[in-house]
Amino acid sequence: MRNSVLAAALLLVTTVASALGQAMYSEAWYDSFRGPMSAPAEPFKVVGNIHYVGAADISSWLVTTPDGHVLIDTGTVEMHDVVRDNIEALGFNPSDVEIILSTEAQFDHVGGHARMQKLTGARVMAMRGDAEALSTGTDNSALGAVGWEPVKVDRVLEHGDTVEIGATTLRAVHNPGRTQGTTTWMMAVEDGGRSYNVAFLGSMGPNAGVALHRNPQHKNVITDSRLGLSRLKAEKAPNIILPNHAQSFFGGKIEQIKAGVRPHPLLNGDVWTSDIVEAETNLEITVDAEMQGS
Ligand SMILES: [Zn+2]
Repeated sequence: MRNSVLAAALLLVTTVASALGQAMYSEAWYDSFRGPMSAPAEPFKVVGNIHYVGAADISSWLVTTPDGHVLIDTGTVEMHDVVRDNIEALGFNPSDVEIILSTEAQFDHVGGHARMQKLTGARVMAMRGDAEALSTGTDNSALGAVGWEPVKVDRVLEHGDTVEIGATTLRAVHNPGRTQGTTTWMMAVEDGGRSYNVAFLGSMGPNAGVALHRNPQHKNVITDSRLGLSRLKAEKAPNIILPNHAQSFFGGKIEQIKAGVRPHPLLNGDVWTSDIVEAETNLEITVDAEMQGS
């Protein structure tokens, strides 16, 4: 299979569902997120000032600067200790995390926000749509999965807003679909004399199997998903695309990354456009299929 972030994500969902031998979104499905996908994993520097501090599958990224750090996604509440320990293992102090961001307001990416906010004292910033979900503790996405402890949102973001800390600027691309405020974060890093454009990718479209035409939570999920994908497509292809489920994406490359192998083992910008086109195709097929079936 080609090195596709989307394909890896789809494969993961299929694998989890089939391995469990049960319908998705069952208790066993939730347990896979709270258990194996939240299991401890070794942290490491990815590129420039970007570090992986997440769990075995669910991502959490630490962007470090001398003026404080940014944490992108906190994962499940069950992986709180994993993220804290990983930050410390890399020699950083959780109390230096100044800002907490997210890719999408679902329990597996923001479930840990409230505890991490208490531990670090960081300000939480979130895209409109997801900000409401965070502050109410309710998943307002088309999936409508379990919620989390409500989080105080200090800054509500809009498409194109930037978050600045030290010499680092993160730019928010609002690509709704998976959730109302799904966000892909764009930043540039310098590493070994070259610069890389990096995307922390928010999922490309709704969860599999959710209702699209008459979804009670996310009423305009179809038009939002089309808008989100068109915004991603309008971006210049990043050099490195970092997904919020990383296990299959990292597969076998962590030792190379840690060893500083160049060209960088995660260079994958050539799949940017093809992944988006594939997601657009999948979306329209699903929209049509639901229409036929109803
Ligand atoms: Zn997820």
